[in-house]
Amino acid sequence: MTATGRAAVLHEFGGGFQTEAYPRPTADRGGLVVEIDTATVCGSDVHAWKGHLSLGVQLPMILGHEMVGRIVEIGPGADVDSVGQDLAIGDRVVWAHAACGHCHECTVEQTPVLCSRRYIGYLNDCSVPPYFTGAFAEYGVVRPDAGRVRVPDRVESAWASAGSCALRTVVKALDLAGSVDRDGTVVVQGAGPLGLFATALLSLNDPRRLVVVGGPQDRLDLASQWGATHTVPVDPAEDPAGRIDEVMSITGRGASVAFELAGAPGVVGEGVKMMARNGRYVLMGTLGGQPQPVDVATIVTRGVRMTGSMSGAIGDYHRAMLALDRYQDRFDWNRMLGSTYDLDTLADAMDAMVSMTEIKPVVRPSGR
Ligand SMILES: [Zn+2]
Ligand SMILES: [Zn+2]
Repeated sequence: MTATGRAAVLHEFGGGFQTEAYPRPTADRGGLVVEIDTATVCGSDVHAWKGHLSLGVQLPMILGHEMVGRIVEIGPGADVDSVGQDLAIGDRVVWAHAACGHCHECTVEQTPVLCSRRYIGYLNDCSVPPYFTGAFAEYGVVRPDAGRVRVPDRVESAWASAGSCALRTVVKALDLAGSVDRDGTVVVQGAGPLGLFATALLSLNDPRRLVVVGGPQDRLDLASQWGATHTVPVDPAEDPAGRIDEVMSITGRGASVAFELAGAPGVVGEGVKMMARNGRYVLMGTLGGQPQPVDVATIVTRGVRMTGSMSGAIGDYHRAMLALDRYQDRFDWNRMLGSTYDLDTLADAMDAMVSMTEIKPVVRPSGR
């Protein structure tokens, strides 16, 4: 094991990445040190890269928050994961942002994902210890206060990496949405990683209609393979009224359950008009940008129940890993993955994400 490890460091928003070496971290009591086995690029990395994330980003930074680490050091007391599974050197883990454990949201509400003091590694200054804050680096640090779960043996690292953000977010949102039965008319707005994972899991409930509204066409084709009964392509230049009519005609009375996973301007105003009376609408895709106009009277007169959802707790990570394992013969998770990059070609991975030529670019920091 070398005394240093490399990381792709961002010094200027929108700029290039410099591969730099930092001292290899050591494990605190209750913590782990991992080698990053595999990382994947998330839309939030693109926002952070451009400086468009309103979460207090500090430069210089190491982007990346979807990752699988292989344990190289176990701190005292850290030989069991957050769901009671033994951990050993060489095991693969995914881990969560660390909630503070001492605020109203953490304790009274029991919603640590809403903790305003959560430690989100990649948003922090990487020029000070422990240095290895983000996924696009050779090492990672699992803090003592961060939940962690072992990755099942049959789950490939790149699937687990994508599962550590996109799928765990979907798992939590599906919980919040409540039951989806065979008579359900479900609408998924967005055909990116979140939309595709949601489509796969929702299809297991066999709803009467499962409509995915999004693009480009290759993603809609994958949505169909993963269980969408109908797809509606989005052309941003077109009037959304046509899409709303199409969804109403496919579903009959609108969406009994809908998910906003697109994050595009105007998407919520459009989604509200696709809702059935007494429908449930979970919003997850929009984390910033300009305020959006929404027809409030439609929400009121149709009795639409709307909920925001973000991220997930460590239990959601665990259930995401179980779903990847259990349904790997039903859904070819590799279909979501793009090319494989290393630290020196990270800019190309980001470009592939921005241009939407790949759904989930894969980064192997070691280059292997
Ligand atoms: Zn993410
Ligand atoms: Zn807290």
